[in-house]
Amino acid sequence: MRCPFCGYEDTRVIESRTIQDGLVVRRRRECPKCGSRFTTYERYELGPAWVVKKDGRREKFSREKILKGIMKACEKRPVSYEDMEKIVDRVISYLQKNAGKEVESVFIGGIVMDELKKVDQVAYVRFASVYKDFREIDQFLDIIHELKGGEGK
Ligand SMILES: [Zn+2]
Repeated sequence: MRCPFCGYEDTRVIESRTIQDGLVVRRRRECPKCGSRFTTYERYELGPAWVVKKDGRREKFSREKILKGIMKACEKRPVSYEDMEKIVDRVISYLQKNAGKEVESVFIGGIVMDELKKVDQVAYVRFASVYKDFREIDQFLDIIHELKGGEGK
């Protein structure tokens, strides 16, 4: 694999281990030319093939796209990149079990929300506001009320 820093063609693997119950292989690589180290992940290419959007258009299912949405919601939050990747993996494994080759974008959004809620409540509210297209302050209040478990009503 090519070095992302200097472009040298022949980097070497210095450590290789399986993570997430053997579903993912994580490799540490080193470039003999510039000495940079980087990490690569090898994982199955599974999951749905197509995402059906609200307006009925279809687009190719993309792990990257889910990760991007999560990264945006987690900006400046104490959630590590590794945790975000784990959320994506959990979302995809859920889809593998519960969705067909076509899945609606709202369905994916709902699963991401459930997962974010367990990890970071601010990220969850952010994601929900985009995903549910909040227009009124009441919608924020509803979701915050729900997070507090309806206490003090
Ligand atoms: Zn290099």
